[in-house]
Amino acid sequence: MKLRIRKDRGACPVPPNLGDYAETCRSFSWQTARTWLDGLPGGGGLNMAHEAVDRHAAGPRAEHVALRWLGRGGEREDYSYGELAAETSRFANALGALGVAAGDRVFLLLGRVPELYVAMLGALKARCVVTPLFSAFGPEPVATRMQIGAARVLVTTEALYQRKVAPIRDQLPALEHVILVDRTGPVEAEALAPGLLPWSQWVPSASSDYRIAPTDPETAALLHFTSGTTGRPKGALHVHEAIVTHHVTGRYALDLHDDDIFWCTADPGWVTGTSYGVLAPLSCGVTVVVVEAEYDPATWYGVLQDEAVSVWYTAPTAVRMMMRAGLEMLADYRFPALRFVASVGEPLNAEAVVWGEQAFGCPIHDNWWQTETGGIMIANYAGVDIKPGSMGRPLPGVEAAIVRRDADGGVAVADEPDVEGELALRAGWPSMMRGYLDEEARYRKCFAGDWYLSGDLARCDAEGYFWFLGRADDVIKSSGHLVGPFEVESALMEHPAVVEAAVIGVPDETAGQLIKAFVTLHQGHAADEAMRRTLLGHARKRLGPAVAPKFIEFREQLPKTRSGKVLRRLLRARELGLPEGDLSTLETDSR
Ligand code: ATP
Ligand code: MG
Repeated sequence: MKLRIRKDRGACPVPPNLGDYAETCRSFSWQTARTWLDGLPGGGGLNMAHEAVDRHAAGPRAEHVALRWLGRGGEREDYSYGELAAETSRFANALGALGVAAGDRVFLLLGRVPELYVAMLGALKARCVVTPLFSAFGPEPVATRMQIGAARVLVTTEALYQRKVAPIRDQLPALEHVILVDRTGPVEAEALAPGLLPWSQWVPSASSDYRIAPTDPETAALLHFTSGTTGRPKGALHVHEAIVTHHVTGRYALDLHDDDIFWCTADPGWVTGTSYGVLAPLSCGVTVVVVEAEYDPATWYGVLQDEAVSVWYTAPTAVRMMMRAGLEMLADYRFPALRFVASVGEPLNAEAVVWGEQAFGCPIHDNWWQTETGGIMIANYAGVDIKPGSMGRPLPGVEAAIVRRDADGGVAVADEPDVEGELALRAGWPSMMRGYLDEEARYRKCFAGDWYLSGDLARCDAEGYFWFLGRADDVIKSSGHLVGPFEVESALMEHPAVVEAAVIGVPDETAGQLIKAFVTLHQGHAADEAMRRTLLGHARKRLGPAVAPKFIEFREQLPKTRSGKVLRRLLRARELGLPEGDLSTLETDSR
């Protein structure tokens, strides 16, 4: 496995925005970064939608394509910045006509159709608090989130409304207006109960002139629910000021340049799909490709090739699915435009980083952040060497450290390299969450002094690269060793037969915990005793007997959240016969 991928900045097709890491960190300040944005006219504060849309619409990029929508049925629609400004203003005016005011909660339950983006940005113009929900959620998760968020407005389709909201409508007393997107045909007027409004009758006739009212940068903008990997999802509240981080990370971590065609595969129902599927790239004025269809390797390779995507942001689970589909599939495709590929959401094993070079001609740049951090905090950059398997280095302006919590609520910061501990960030970057909705105590527990504690364990090497070990809840204590699941999983995934692995601790009288791995195999490999022995032997050789798994169980699939994260807590609960906990975000499952 490669220990380092060297970047020759002179050989980059376009000079990277972040060329000299040390110098940029030294000279960077958030105050200066704030001046890269426009601000509302007349000193009216800072509004995400103005930065993402209106300022480009009012300047030389008015005709530039902002959104390129590729529909499931082969449809294709382009929206220039000028058009997006007009559409979002119409939506903001339509909200105003309903009496919806600043601070009101607007929920979006839609597939990836243009109206989702128009409604999100229009509601931000109106200074509402927006929550995009993943459209594949069932009624239960929809109800819980809409109750927690006290949704006043919902934008959805008639079909989604009938299936997911109508059965729980009586549990949503705050919900007053439901706008039904009717792009596939008119909603039957008589089928409309009071409070249900067809988009086509309400939005297009509204005026396309809208002046965003003064917006204090601390005004609430987005309420995002976490993925629910470790337990019940939390509602993290973000403010308009977060656009400063979005913009800076768009430039530095995703290396966006004016003429880029950018595709983020995440659904806006997850924070990645909003921060990077909408706000960051639009704030940089680039073209955002929106793909309505779900993952399928042929569709994805086709989009990358045919749309000439130059910067692509995806997730480890997708990368591993593509690896499973095999390099042969890629023989029919060419990606001459593709310049930069990044991934987030789960640890990206070194194997996958390097696979990107073979498959797409560029390594995959891992980066780390959370719903709570609102934007990318640690990253591998276009112009900086990659150490495959590492999450990279902190964003300029972000101070990251490895800390140990002490008994009285304080923390000690590790001052040596390679110490294992909790990954912490010094509070104060613009997109830091401002609270968990209605969970003040839980929010406070995230901080010790001015450190934000991420709940993830990591180490930092002598060059300042951070290495993920596992979530604090997932770490295993075996015979006096603290074992991070990622290390064991990565070693298993180095074996050519293994696609994915998830590791948990099972109680043992002598060792405290023993390590058990759940493994999925590439097609053509038998999940039998011989394979089990081979993998146990391989892991022992790679990791040593203390850290290698003692048990291996084969699975067709691993249980995952809908955002593609392995649910180790569910594997653990089932193994130990414990309650399964909140499963509202469970996607794939096979026992
Ligand atoms: P919940 O907080 O509800 O349990 P979640 O933590 O999965 O869910 P998100 O905010 O979507 O919700 O995910 C952030 C977490 O994802 C991080 O804390 C980390 O554990 C994991 N993660 C994200 N990016 C990376 C990465 N590059 N490497 C390793 N882990 C990552
Ligand atoms: Mg979390």
